[in-house]
Amino acid sequence: MELIKKLSRRQFIDGEWVESQNKATREIINPFNQEVIMEVSEGTTEDVERAIQAARRSFDSGEYANEPGEAKGKKVRAIADKIKEHRAELAELETLDTGKTLEESFADMDDIHNVFMYFAGLADKDGGELINSPIPNTESKIVKEPVGVVTQITPWNYPLLQASWKIAPALAAGCSLVMKPSEITPLTTIRVFELMEEVGFPKGVINLVLGAGSDIGDIMSTHKEVDLVSFTGGIQTGKRIMKQAADNVTNVALELGGKNPNVIFDDADLELAVDQALNGGYFHAGQVCSAGSRIIVHNNIKEEFEKALIDRVKKIKLGNGFDETTEMGPLISAEHRNKVEGYMAIAKEDGATIAIGGKRPEREDLQSGFFFEPTVITNCDTSMRIVQEEVFGPVVTVEGFDTEEEAILLANDSIYGLAGGIFSKDIGKAQRVAKQLRMGTVWINDFHPYFAQAPWGGYKQSGIGRELGHDGLAEYLETKHILMNTNPEPVNWFSK
Ligand code: NAD
Repeated sequence: MELIKKLSRRQFIDGEWVESQNKATREIINPFNQEVIMEVSEGTTEDVERAIQAARRSFDSGEYANEPGEAKGKKVRAIADKIKEHRAELAELETLDTGKTLEESFADMDDIHNVFMYFAGLADKDGGELINSPIPNTESKIVKEPVGVVTQITPWNYPLLQASWKIAPALAAGCSLVMKPSEITPLTTIRVFELMEEVGFPKGVINLVLGAGSDIGDIMSTHKEVDLVSFTGGIQTGKRIMKQAADNVTNVALELGGKNPNVIFDDADLELAVDQALNGGYFHAGQVCSAGSRIIVHNNIKEEFEKALIDRVKKIKLGNGFDETTEMGPLISAEHRNKVEGYMAIAKEDGATIAIGGKRPEREDLQSGFFFEPTVITNCDTSMRIVQEEVFGPVVTVEGFDTEEEAILLANDSIYGLAGGIFSKDIGKAQRVAKQLRMGTVWINDFHPYFAQAPWGGYKQSGIGRELGHDGLAEYLETKHILMNTNPEPVNWFSK
């Protein structure tokens, strides 16, 4: 691929493309065939230190932070334009790096364009507000200011999408940022930093560091010059970041995992429910934080539903993401496939039944990729680890229920609270249930849609804070109250 030859292998720190301080590199692997796509720099803590200091200097200079909102909006819009212009090459890079189908990657790029457009539009909207001061002869106003230096850490499943959810609002707010993509999938983020360099930002406003979180992640949450750490990834990493950030009372925004219930009532449109159960469970091979991996279906239709689901799962076409007929690509890595595979034994031990899948495919042409068959696990109950833990693979479990109350209890019986679905033709009931689900997003008669205008995030251990929507910008803003006395006189509270 021509683009790979030209793509930077380096980090972007203080306005320059630089090698890692110790010149170390890492191989980036194509999960479809295990071929090395390219080698990129593997950063060190010294590199991150330089990036954070550069971000601090740039922020404190006010050169970008103090630009009018309109000017910031234009820059963010220029990034959106670049995404649109380079849509095809970015989508191809994403498929190469993650194994997802090209169609999914194109959809990601369109979403990413919309995210930059949306935050570009918000950049000049919040001019603060005057409030009614209760103190005579004073004027009080509330202003919003950029939070400062932000570190941003993203996962491998939606590499550029997750990066865009962080970069766009940070730049719209006027922050200086240090981004670290997942070490497994950094390619599209590198490319977008090249495009952002073309847009032009003052030195130090945008910084890119590369490497494993286990080596260079800690400094991103412990550094005293960091004002906010925004993290998307697994629950254990999120907990560690939150604990470490506490030492300097650094703000945290956490988008963590999910084990998302998909509740199907016996009055649902069965064909629709099955179709959306497939989208929920197997989109991007189930490597989606909001995957509908936990189906909770009314006992009256459970057997019929399971049969229909299994019939459709049998037809899912595995293959190369670049092949137009492919419906599901590989998992991201050998290590991750081992983890998913390991859950099959756990499920069986707990008494569940692997109704279909549960193993690596036998097809000759898939042997060099990290493929795992789409899997349905039946005879499940809430006590099982397969029902409670995030597998992050093409694996759905099925549980039954009899009453509305039971469905709600089951759906909420989780440490997570990211998203959930409800299928029913009774809209009153669906709304009633939606209100009682303890989740950041609830879909009724649908699964997965999200967009830049609506906030995204989790209740409970699925996270803290929101991305996207007005709330997504608010993460990157501080609120300040400025009071001015318009007729100041000594109060002589203390004797002269
Ligand atoms: P992960 O936690 O292993 O890694 C995520 C990122 O954190 C990577 O960039 C990694 O290098 C970095 N990291 C690792 N240790 C670190 C440390 N000590 N300090 C700082 N950074 C560190 O997660 P993953 O396997 O890449 O991603 C999958 C997880 O992400 C799943 O749990 C999924 O649900 C979650 N996710 C959540 C959302 C959401 O919106 N809630 C979206 C996508 C993915």
